[in-house]
Amino acid sequence: MSEAKRVIVIGAGWAGLGATHHLSQQGYNVTLLEAGPHPGGLVAGWKTSAGRSIEGGIHGFWYPYKNIFNLVKRLKINPFTPFTRSAQYSPKGLECESPLFQDKPPLPTPLGTFLYTRFYRLPLADRLSALPLLYAVIDFDNSPDAWRRYDKMTARELFREFGVSKRLYKEAFEPMLLVGLFAPGEQCSAAAALGMLYYFILAHQPDFDVVWCRGTVGEQIFQPWVEQIEQTGGKVLTNQRVTDLTLNDEGCVTGVVCGDETFAADAVISAVSVSGMKKMVSQSQTLNQYAEFRNLLNLGGIDVLATRLWFDRRVKVPRPSNACFGFDATTGWTFFDLNALHDEFKDAPGTVIEADFYHANQLLPMSNAQIWEKVHQDLATCVPKFKQAKIVYSTVIRVRQGVTHFAPGSYQHFLTAKTPIPNFYLSGDWVISQHGSWSQEKAYVTGLEAANLVIEQFKQGKKADIIPVETDEPHIQLARLVNRSVRTVGDWVWPQFGL
Ligand SMILES: Cc1cc2nc3c(=O)[nH]c(=O)nc-3n(C[C@H](O)[C@H](O)[C@H](O)COP(=O)(O)OP(=O)(O)OC[C@H]3O[C@@H](n4cnc5c(N)ncnc54)[C@H](O)[C@@H]3O)c2cc1C
Repeated sequence: MSEAKRVIVIGAGWAGLGATHHLSQQGYNVTLLEAGPHPGGLVAGWKTSAGRSIEGGIHGFWYPYKNIFNLVKRLKINPFTPFTRSAQYSPKGLECESPLFQDKPPLPTPLGTFLYTRFYRLPLADRLSALPLLYAVIDFDNSPDAWRRYDKMTARELFREFGVSKRLYKEAFEPMLLVGLFAPGEQCSAAAALGMLYYFILAHQPDFDVVWCRGTVGEQIFQPWVEQIEQTGGKVLTNQRVTDLTLNDEGCVTGVVCGDETFAADAVISAVSVSGMKKMVSQSQTLNQYAEFRNLLNLGGIDVLATRLWFDRRVKVPRPSNACFGFDATTGWTFFDLNALHDEFKDAPGTVIEADFYHANQLLPMSNAQIWEKVHQDLATCVPKFKQAKIVYSTVIRVRQGVTHFAPGSYQHFLTAKTPIPNFYLSGDWVISQHGSWSQEKAYVTGLEAANLVIEQFKQGKKADIIPVETDEPHIQLARLVNRSVRTVGDWVWPQFGL
C-alpha cells in the first residue's frame, strides 16, 4: 500500500478488536479508541487493589462460535476449558442437567435437545407442549422479512399462541430468555427469542455445549490479542471517549473528536454498544443530523450485576456452570464454580464463586453488603453446604444499561453496518447482520464485516474470511423450503393487508 489509509475504530470490545486486528494485518494505519481503562468492553477483566482477578460477568463460548475458536487458534493461545456440563436450579432445588450433547448419538434436531436433557421435575406433558412451536422455528429463518413479522410480538405472546404450557414457559423458556437475551419474555422480541434459541440450542445437537476461559477473558484472550495487534502496527488507546465526528462538504467523515483532540481518519468504524451510541448521538453535532442515528434513542440497554465471592472453605458444587430461575420475578442468574474453571483457583483452600444477575434493575441500588447477603442466601438454596461457609472477600460490578435490549419493536431502529455516512461503519452485537450468530461471536463477526467494508471501499488488502454458521440440517432445510413456497403462494393469492 503506497500510503496507509487511516482508520479509527471506536470501542475495544470483541467487535472493535476484531476490526482493528484485521485491518492492521492488512496494512491499514489503525487506531482504536476505548473510553474505559481496559480493552474488552463488557468482557473486560482486571485485578482489584488486593490483587484478585475480576471481570464484568463470566462469559461462555458455545459450540457454534467457530470464528472465535478460529481466532484463538491463529493467535496460538489456549484459553479454554474442555466443554462442560451445566445444571439448572430453582428455589425447589436441582431442576435439570444437560449432558455433553456432542458425546451423545446424533439425532435429527431438535430431538437430541429434548431427549438427552435430564429434567427432574418438569412433567413430560409440559415438555411435549413445545412441539407446535417448531412451526415458528421453521418459519423464522433470520431473514429481514422474518424479523419484521415476529419482532413486534413479545416472546411470551409467541409461546402462548403456540400452546406452550405455563409451566414449560416459566421453568424452561423464560429462564433461557433471561440468560440469553437478559430480559423476561414479556420484554423480549419474539424474533430475537427465536433467533437466539435456534442459534444456541436448536439448530444442531451439540450447539448448547459450552467452554469457558481458564481465567478472566481479559487475561486469557484480550491481553495476548492486543499485544499481537500492536505488533502488526495497530494502536489501542484506552481512556479515550469519542464525542463526535467531523465531516467534509461531501458528507464523509474526516476525523473523530475525543476530548480536545481530533484524530484524522479516512474511515471510521464504531464498535460501541447501544448505550454508547445513544450517548454519542446525543452529544454529537454531526450524528444527530441523521434520523437513522436519532432513532437509536428508541433502543435500550439492560442492567446486569456481576459478583465474585471467596469463601473460607471448599464446598462441592456438582456442576461448574449453573443457571437459576424463580428467585426474583423478572431476574435470572447464573453461578460458576471458579475452582473448577479458572487455573488460578484450582488449588485454592476456599471456594470461589462468580454469581451474575441479568435484568437486575431492582438489585443495583442495594448496598454491596446487602447484595453479598442475597447471593449467599440464594447460593445456599441451590447448594445447602454454602450455609456454613463464610465469605472472606467479595466484589460487585454494576453494569448499568450495559447489554443490548432486544425489546419488541426494536428491530426497526437497529442499523446495518453501512450508514448514511459513506465511510462510517457500524459493528457490535446489536448491529443487523445476516450471519445468524449471537453475543460475543456476533460482535466479533460484525467487527470483521465492518473491516471488510473498509477493504471494499479502498480496494486495498484481503477481506477477512468469516466462517458462516453451520447450514440447517436437511429436514429443516426441506421444511423451510416448503414453508417459504406456501407463504409465497399464499401472499400471491391473498396479499397481506392486516396488521
Ligand atoms: C454479565 C454478562 C454475561 C454475558 N455472558 C455472555 C456469555 O456467556 N456468552 C456470550 O457470548 N456473551 C455474553 N454476554 C454478552 C457479551 O458480553 C456481548 O455480546 C459482547 O461482549 C458485545 O461486544 P461488543 O464488542 O459488541 O460491545 P461491548 O463489549 O459493549 O464493547 C463496546 C466498547 O465501546 C466502548 N465505548 C462506548 N462508548 C464509547 C465512546 N464514546 N468512545 C470510546 N469507546 C466507547 C465501551 O467502553 C466498550 O469497551 C454477556 C454480557 C454480560 C454483561
